[in-house]
Amino acid sequence: DAPEKLDFIREIIRDDLANGVHETTVTRFPPEPNGYLHIGHAKSICLNFGLAEENAATGARCHLRFDDTNPAKESDEYVRSIQEDVKWLGFDWGDNLFFASNYFERFYECAMHLIDNGLAYVDRQSPEEIRQNRGTLTQPGTPSPDRDSSPEANRELFEKMRAGEFKEGEAVLRAKIDLASQNLNLRDPVIYRIMHHAHHNTGDAWCIYPMYDFAHPLEDAFEHITHSLCTLEFEDHRPLYEWVIENCPVPSKPRQIEFSRLNVNYTVMSKRKLLRLVAEECVTGWDDPRMPTISGLRRRGVPPEAIRSFCRTVGLTKFNSTSDIALFEHAIRDHLNKTSPRYMAVLDPLKVTLTNWDEDRFDELRAILNPEDPEAGDRAIPFGRSLFIEREDFLDDENPPRKFFRLAPGREVRLRYAYVIKCEEVVRDEAGNPIELLCTVDHDTLGKNPEGRKVKGVIHWVSADRCVDAPVRLYDRLFTVENPEADVDDFTENLNLESLDVVHAKLEPALAWAAKPETRVQFERVGYFVADRHDSTPDHPIFNRTVGLRDSWAK
Ligand code: ATP
Ligand code: MG
Ligand code: MG
Repeated sequence: DAPEKLDFIREIIRDDLANGVHETTVTRFPPEPNGYLHIGHAKSICLNFGLAEENAATGARCHLRFDDTNPAKESDEYVRSIQEDVKWLGFDWGDNLFFASNYFERFYECAMHLIDNGLAYVDRQSPEEIRQNRGTLTQPGTPSPDRDSSPEANRELFEKMRAGEFKEGEAVLRAKIDLASQNLNLRDPVIYRIMHHAHHNTGDAWCIYPMYDFAHPLEDAFEHITHSLCTLEFEDHRPLYEWVIENCPVPSKPRQIEFSRLNVNYTVMSKRKLLRLVAEECVTGWDDPRMPTISGLRRRGVPPEAIRSFCRTVGLTKFNSTSDIALFEHAIRDHLNKTSPRYMAVLDPLKVTLTNWDEDRFDELRAILNPEDPEAGDRAIPFGRSLFIEREDFLDDENPPRKFFRLAPGREVRLRYAYVIKCEEVVRDEAGNPIELLCTVDHDTLGKNPEGRKVKGVIHWVSADRCVDAPVRLYDRLFTVENPEADVDDFTENLNLESLDVVHAKLEPALAWAAKPETRVQFERVGYFVADRHDSTPDHPIFNRTVGLRDSWAK
């Protein structure tokens, strides 16, 4: 999966290997288990695990590390879903599964080391005072009254913090760096806080928890990570990352490198916002097929290869931008076109009766499953007197527009894999709407052109007597605008209220037989669909639309 031209990160890694800076490459994907992974995370997964694969000859590896240092938002459900999603995307961490929470004792020792060296102090100012005393870009911070207390005093206070003798907000541990730094992250950042909250892994063992900026570099160093790849918003934190590595007793010196986040239009992409959509029941759950989560995309029928290919296409840069969802859809179609078998399904059925076909005659026609893949074989399609065609394929007009090649009164059309039929009569309901077409079939047109005339249109159909009914969920974009967060107080104002339409479709029988959960297929001329992972059963298939065909009706 490696891109042809090396990006800046792959150049650095190549040079580090060539120059003997490292013997191999060790990367990590470090999610916080506070939500399900989204397609933005896929970019990081593909990068980190991809680098390990590309450098496998040198013994490279990629760790899956749960960055679980904030017990209030984390859970085992998220831990499980993240593992499932990474595996489904096609990556394997082998034995390299880690939890930051397993380092709590080591983090604590590092904090004590800083205290002993006069590089950290327990601050008993209120959170409000700490914020105010941090100063501004033009004004240095004001030292806390606790800033110069002795290592012995700080040791004792920090032990008391650990022992639970303070309430939340009564004390924090701060690194003693530089209150006048132009980089606000270096103005004595808080590195430990009190949280009386049970942790999904360590239970009630701790009531003090390290902050990301302190814990993350230590985690990387403990695991001998060589290249710690993170998104651009951490660029300003890098000096602090390096300060922690310099000043703590660590076994290795990882290097942080930043790259641009993946953003995609017509959706939101942060776990916090996705959690709101779930909690406020705007969607059915984290894996709702409209969600940009990996489990949502999976349930939508997106193949993992398409996600990987999309991540490769967007590439790695140093500037943030938003990718067009159309680019992602292109990658999805590209993969599905090659791999998914074709079947016929009618989403909006209109009955057709072939008046010159015997009522009890059923022929078995054969059709190949995938023209892109001869190995896929073929299928049998029953053909009889009663059929369904797509309502949209009939135009109730004696004089249809010149370019309209489908069915109309008095016109002919080819039924795919079958015969040419002619619409002789339209049966209407009281309001005048067509409810059935009486047609004749030209018996001499199976697999050959009709005598003396050209029939240009080809439409899909199913046997009305031998089809299978199935609900089909037609998903649309979850938001109506490209940037749901622009120009509104709250992004949920831009939700697309018509993002799901359930229709009752008619499937050719072979499609119903094939419909094991997660089977991805093409409904000919309609789009790509998947049998729902959770709700579809062989007796009661339920399909989700993954994506439409590029140009479904231009035929
Ligand atoms: P969110 O803001 O969506 O909650 P996060 O960055 O807080 O995401 P983490 O669990 O901390 O989520 O992320 C794990 C890894 O995935 C991090 O290394 C992070 O940089 C990376 N990552 C998260 N979002 C994106 C994105 N949109 N594009 C690329 N990488 C991302
Ligand atoms: Mg986060
Ligand atoms: Mg974030």
